[in-house]
Amino acid sequence: MTDPRVTPQEAWDVLANGNARFVEGQLLHPQQSAARRSELSGSQAPNAAFLGCSDSRVAAEILFDCGLGDLFVVRNIGQISNDNTTATMEFAVAELGVAVIVVLAHCSCGAVAAAINQSSAHPNEVTPAIRRELENIQPAVQQEWLSEHRETPYVDPEAIDADAVGRRHLGTTINSLMRSSRVISDAVAAGRLGIVGCQYQLEEGRVSPIVAVGRLSVELAPEALA
Ligand SMILES: [Zn+2]
Repeated sequence: MTDPRVTPQEAWDVLANGNARFVEGQLLHPQQSAARRSELSGSQAPNAAFLGCSDSRVAAEILFDCGLGDLFVVRNIGQISNDNTTATMEFAVAELGVAVIVVLAHCSCGAVAAAINQSSAHPNEVTPAIRRELENIQPAVQQEWLSEHRETPYVDPEAIDADAVGRRHLGTTINSLMRSSRVISDAVAAGRLGIVGCQYQLEEGRVSPIVAVGRLSVELAPEALA
């Protein structure tokens, strides 16, 4: 077990400040020099881990204005929690000593849209592997749909708030990560690890915190989960 070098608050504040620079267009591009590359050639000691969507518009290091050795990253369609992502986050916590995990949903997510489609009366055909991944998002689709519509279980893609589905799914992913990992849950309980679930607004570039777990103070966005 590697102890964290910073508090969850310190690790989060670095990311929040980096995103504020990205939103303002005042990027510093830190830690991207040849000297930094060479400094890291023997080892890494990132303070933050990132679980996000594979979407080409959601590039972790760019939107937090950080660089080499700063973020330990895993991405898949719709930032789904599964054995692979749990193991990756456990490695970040136990072996590398990260102090914060950011789980990042984003607006206009293709995986959320595909999961909504799969919950409609006439779903498109998808491969078995993609269907299995989307099944992780479908409970959030159903919850959001049934909160507003009780007349039919089949979702009308035009009548559901996809970004609200994304926020519900974000909460599910974080709960699943903690449920599936004693290492992660223990680190949160001990105050060594914080988990911040955020939704990324593509147009503004803003990372809006929706849910936070652990000993850190994060100002949540107005659309935060109730
Ligand atoms: Zn996505």
